[in-house]
Formats: sequence, C-alpha cells, structure tokens
Amino acid sequence: MNDMNACKPKIVMDLESLNASNAQGCSACGRKFNLGDTAVLACGAWGSGPRYIHENEAVQDKRTAQYFERSYYAALKADA
Ligand SMILES: [Zn+2]
Repeated sequence: MNDMNACKPKIVMDLESLNASNAQGCSACGRKFNLGDTAVLACGAWGSGPRYIHENEAVQDKRTAQYFERSYYAALKADA
C-alpha cells in the first residue's frame, strides 16, 4: 500500500482513505479530513516520511514534483 501511495501523491478522500488517515488527522493543521477533501502526500517537519495533508497546506516543488508542508518548505528554502 505504501508503494501505491508513493505513486499517487494526490488523492480525493473517500471513505477508505478517511478511515486510514483520520486516526491521526492532517499532520499540517491537526484537523480531520472530510469526505471529498483533496489531500497530498507531503514531507514536513514531522520527519518520518511523507504524510497526507490538505492540498492547500502544501506546496509542490517544481523541480522534484514532491509536495511539502508550507512552513517546512519555506524553512528548507531559507537554509539553501
Ligand atoms: Zn490540514
């Protein structure tokens, strides 16, 4: 399942995805996802691998096409 997620970084929340992700909720804002929300698999300050967050809380790096949590991405760019 993780391999599939890696190939599909953007999803629209259906019941199955909700059940899988709402134990934890969104890693960026801490809220639960709603049915029909668009979520992306993003890297963030939490560290251990990509997690689903709301699409509007993520930015996509143009070079790598990877998603990052916004404030984390800004911090990465500031270091570079
Ligand atoms: Zn969120």
